[in-house]
Amino acid sequence: MSNEVAANNSPATIQPVEIQETLDELYNKYRLLQIGQLATYIPELAKVNPELFSICIITVDGQCFKVGDFQQLFTIQSISKVFVYGLALAEHGREQVLAKVGVEPTGDAFNAIILDEKSKRPYNPMVNAGAIAITSLIKGNEPTERLSRMLSMFEGYIGHETTVDMLTFMSERTTGHRNRAMAHLMLNFGMIDEKIDEALDLYFQQCSLAINCLDLAVMAATLSNQGRNPLTHVQAVPSCYIRDILSVIYTCGMYNFAGEWAYKVGLPAKSGVSGGLLIVVPGQMGIGIFSPLLDERGNSVRGVKVSEELSQRFGLHLFDCKKRDVG
Ligand code: GLU
Repeated sequence: MSNEVAANNSPATIQPVEIQETLDELYNKYRLLQIGQLATYIPELAKVNPELFSICIITVDGQCFKVGDFQQLFTIQSISKVFVYGLALAEHGREQVLAKVGVEPTGDAFNAIILDEKSKRPYNPMVNAGAIAITSLIKGNEPTERLSRMLSMFEGYIGHETTVDMLTFMSERTTGHRNRAMAHLMLNFGMIDEKIDEALDLYFQQCSLAINCLDLAVMAATLSNQGRNPLTHVQAVPSCYIRDILSVIYTCGMYNFAGEWAYKVGLPAKSGVSGGLLIVVPGQMGIGIFSPLLDERGNSVRGVKVSEELSQRFGLHLFDCKKRDVG
């Protein structure tokens, strides 16, 4: 920590009271912003209350700040890809995982049916094709064993048991034709094995995991804290894979907004179509935001606004020379 004073006259260390005051202020400011659309292509998501909104921060030393509907459950959706990628790395190691799925950002939509021309790999683990290929790698003899491994992994990050929301799972399972098409394409090129239906079920289950905004912040804080949950001190993923996870979400975590996000906010993050947003401030804190109205790229409208302000006010951008530490 340093005693330097930043150019905007804020002290170099962020004090706890300042964090809570900022969350309250941003919540009250952006609660009034009611633009964007609910995701409707998964019928269950179209039923969510669009007004819901919460912001939570957990620091790596376990301090907790929260505002809004932080106990409201929602499905994790694409944010699950971050953690299942970590599980695949832990089970198979970097080289084997890299042989199946690349780490290259795409300018295409998250659900584009494309593979790398030459290698036939999906571009990265954060687009649907890559995530399904990653999910197909999870070890276990039976579907229940694989689901149980996955749920235990999530429990490590969250600190308590979680369940799959059955209505969302069934909703995705009956309407997920694009995801099914991708799995078939990958099977055609030998990039996943023939148990496609099992892999897809597991993928739909991981996306349908029910969490709240506080859980999301703890998960983010665990990634900030080298894979160790700051509240329970459980090591959720081997620390050697944190750099893989964070570099992939830094470049590929925010759909087609990833470049602009990296430029403006400058932090590893992942969003999902249910309106969740997970942000990692390495070595300092995890931020969870939930607000289901999405912009045209699929990111939470309020989530992006709040993140831009938090990054700017607290000097969180990774390449900001006036970075501040949490007190
Ligand atoms: N389950 C969703 C899908 O596969 C996840 C999409 C997302 O959150 O980006 O389409």
